[in-house]
Formats: sequence, C-alpha cells, structure tokens
Amino acid sequence: MATRIPEPFRIKMVERINLIPREEREQRLVEAGYNPFALRSQDIYIDLLTDSGTGAMSDKQWAAVMLGDESYAGSKSFYKLESVVQEITGYKYVIPTHQGRGAEQVVLPLVIKNKGDYVLNNMHFDTTMGHVILAGGRPVNLIDEKAFDTDKYDDFKGDFDLEKLENFIKEHGVDKISCLIITVTCNSSGGQPISMANMRSASDIAHKYGLQVFLDAARYAENAYFIKERENGYQNKSIREIAKEMFCYADGLMMSAKKDGIVNMGGLIGIKDNEDLYNECRSRLVPMEGFPTYGGLAGRDMEALSVGLEEALEYEYLHYRIGQVKYLGDRLREAGVPIQYPTGGHAVFVDCKKLCPQIPFHQFPAQAFCNALYIESGIRPVEIGSFLLGRDPETGENLESPLELMRLTIPRRVYTNDHMDYIADGVIKVAEYASSLKGFEFEYEPKVLRHFTAKLKPVE
Ligand SMILES: *Cc1c(COP(=O)(O)O)cnc(C)c1O
Repeated sequence: MATRIPEPFRIKMVERINLIPREEREQRLVEAGYNPFALRSQDIYIDLLTDSGTGAMSDKQWAAVMLGDESYAGSKSFYKLESVVQEITGYKYVIPTHQGRGAEQVVLPLVIKNKGDYVLNNMHFDTTMGHVILAGGRPVNLIDEKAFDTDKYDDFKGDFDLEKLENFIKEHGVDKISCLIITVTCNSSGGQPISMANMRSASDIAHKYGLQVFLDAARYAENAYFIKERENGYQNKSIREIAKEMFCYADGLMMSAKKDGIVNMGGLIGIKDNEDLYNECRSRLVPMEGFPTYGGLAGRDMEALSVGLEEALEYEYLHYRIGQVKYLGDRLREAGVPIQYPTGGHAVFVDCKKLCPQIPFHQFPAQAFCNALYIESGIRPVEIGSFLLGRDPETGENLESPLELMRLTIPRRVYTNDHMDYIADGVIKVAEYASSLKGFEFEYEPKVLRHFTAKLKPVE
C-alpha cells in the first residue's frame, strides 16, 4: 500500500482553485491549439505543468522579503546570498541570474569556443540544449541505457554510461569538446538521481582529459536526498555534507533557483576558483542580466532565495517532498499504470508509449494522454517525449524520443496528499481508454523549443 507522509508544515494562507465544467475544458483546449502550455491558469484545477517557480514560500521567506536591499550595486541582500551559496557549495564566486537559462546564456557561449564543438551531459534539459545549440555547440547525451527501461528498478537512473563517456572523448578528441555537464537530478530521464560514485568517476574522466565540469544544479538537494537514502556510505551524512561533496567534483554550476531554491524566480552561477571565467561571466552578465550584485533579481528575491536554499536542505522537508511524489507513483503502479520506476524527485512520469501503442512517435502519444487528462480532470500535465525533442537541426526530420512520457510535476509545498489522490484517480481513468486516443499533427510549428508555442490539431 502507498504510504502517506504528513506534510511537515501547516497552512497559513490559501488560494482558491476552480474546476470549470467539462464542456468548457474541451472548448479551452481547442482554443489552446491542443497545447496545454497555451491554457490560462484560471481554467486549470491542478497545475502539474512544472515544479519551476511554482513552489510555496515559507513564512520565513516572506519575512525575509521585507529585508530586501534594493541598492543597484553592492546590495546587502547580494552579500547574504553570496555567503549562503559559498557555504553550501564551497565555491569562491557567486553570480545571481534571473533564472537558470540566464546562467546558461552567460556561461555556455564562454565555454563553447568553436562552432560545432560538443557539450557532453548525462541528459540535457531542454533550455540547456537550446543554449548549447544557440552558442554553436552540439549537445550529446551519454546517460546509461538503464534510464530507458522504465519498468526496471534502479537506484540511480541518472547515471552516465562511463564507458560511452570516455569513448566519446577518445573518438572525437578533447579539442572538439567544450565541457562536461552533470545534470542533478536528471530531469529528462524522470527526475532520476545520479550516484556520488558515478559523478566522481565522470568528473575524473573529464578532468583526466582537461575538460571543465559544470553541475546543472536545479535539483541538487533532491539528488543529495536520494544519495543519502540509497548509496552505501552516505546514510549517516547530512544532506548538506552530501551536497558539498557533489559540488566539489565540478568546477562550476548553473542553477535554476526556481526548483531547489524554492523561489518563484531566480538563478545562480557558481564558480569554484577559475577567476578568468568569473571575470568573463561578470562582463557578459551586465548586458544580458544586469549588474553582478543583482543579475536580474530584486534585493527581496535574493533574500527569499537565501532562506529557500537553506530550507530545501532540511531532511524532514525532503523526506515529505520526495515521499509525496512516491505516493502518487505508488498509487498509479498499484492500479497497473506504467510509470518510470522508481519515481524521481520532482515528478511522476507516465509511460505513454505503453499506454497508447496505436499512436506513432511523430503524432505524439504522450501529448494525446496529457490532453485527455485535462479534459477528464482539469489537471495540466506536460509532455516529455518526441513533441518536446523537436527536429534534427541538420536533416529537419522529427526526432524519435526513446521515451514518450507524461510528466506530472509536483510543485513544492503546494498540493496536499488529497490532491495526489485526485490526480491518481484521473490518470487511472484515462489509462482505461488510452488505447483509443488519437494522435496530433502541427497546425503551427516554431523553429526552436517548439513545445512552448506550437499549435496542434487531432489527426483525422
Ligand atoms: C529548469 C531547468 C533549467 C532552466 O532553468 P529556468 O529557471 O527554467 O530557466 C535548466 N536545467 C534544468 C535541469 C532544469 O530543470
């Protein structure tokens, strides 16, 4: 039986949500071009589009907001944030950005020196892949194949295939490679953690060939929790100690603070000790994000982030957070709904290739399931599959994703366990008729990051 972990907080403020009638949901989805990204939030009952910037801030974070120092340069709030991040990461240099992609647009063009250079990653997140391509680089995913066997339990489905990593470097030559990025947890394979041992080895391999290593650290605290629960030798270490060890294997970090920073907007660049890179980042930051002591954030944002970063490292919080995601996953599994197993840190990923075998990848099976779930229950999930993956930049062909997933992304500290039951009931109901759903084709398709603004129509 699925276990419910009581929320380690009580609720001080509530926000009304509405379930509009089914006929209206059908109408809204047509107007949205069958793309849930285009729905208005007022027409959604439970919003599982993303865990990014959708978390609930604590009373302590709101109190910190009042302490924001809005000085353009040299804000006290910056120095507070800097010292919190230095303490957590052990890095010397800290630069705020408006969100994760702000960090990417500053760092990646500095690291990708030549057009066509490869950037290696366990698995690129979509904006990271976008920024690698915009900077002239070629993103390469080197995740262990075990990530794609959704049924089969593995503790660390975010791990690199280390042999593939080393072979890639040997085959293409280090001169053609910009850097190694380690994504923790691995969002695109299902919020799956990477083990400390694998991180250490991947980093050793990169450093042996003289490559820089960056952590894509959006969910580093959730990854640290999994290491504590699952990896030998870490049971008695604190989340903080584990996190610090994770950071020590990289030379820098890019982070969306909208995840494990538990703020609605924010990002970070951290650099261990490379002063030249730090100076280059600061110069680039000014025209793109802002002066280096605010980087696109208000003083109050930096205050809230300083507190959020600390709260996300609390064991009780992480135990409840990851336990809630697991509870939803367990309810689905008990009803025979195929999911990426075990559940990851921030979401349950439903395997729609298995549920909708009648829909070919280029008609987006997971998108079809997402749309059906909105109609059924007023829930907004998101597709993580061939619709998201896009086209081969060289041939223009639709790429086939190895997984066709519907992501039920759980915002931090926002929905209760009763909401999890409502979500499970809706998914289980749609699963019963999933094999009769129809696929989709494009009415309008933008060139990059198409999933955000594309319009679709049902295949006749
Ligand atoms: C969210 C995310 C990003 C991008 O961050 P934004 O704050 O959305 O710009 C980059 N990498 C990973 C792994 C993410 O989850």
